[in-house]
Amino acid sequence: MTHREFEGFTSYARRLKAAGDNPGWVRLPHSKRVMQAEGGKLYFTGEPCKRGHISPRNEHGDCTQCHVMRLAERRNAV
Ligand SMILES: [Zn+2]
Repeated sequence: MTHREFEGFTSYARRLKAAGDNPGWVRLPHSKRVMQAEGGKLYFTGEPCKRGHISPRNEHGDCTQCHVMRLAERRNAV
């Protein structure tokens, strides 16, 4: 794991609380910018997406739960 500029306690505490049962999410980058700097594929802001999911987001800024839902919808549509 590479060293990363600390996001600050306020942001960290907010994300830790948002992650709930998934404390590993807090170790993800807190912003897309940081994720891209590290070359990763996921980041976790702790903010709910437009559908209200709290989960990591991918390089497009899409929440991973929405992404899975879209894949399922596509399968069902065939
Ligand atoms: Zn979502």
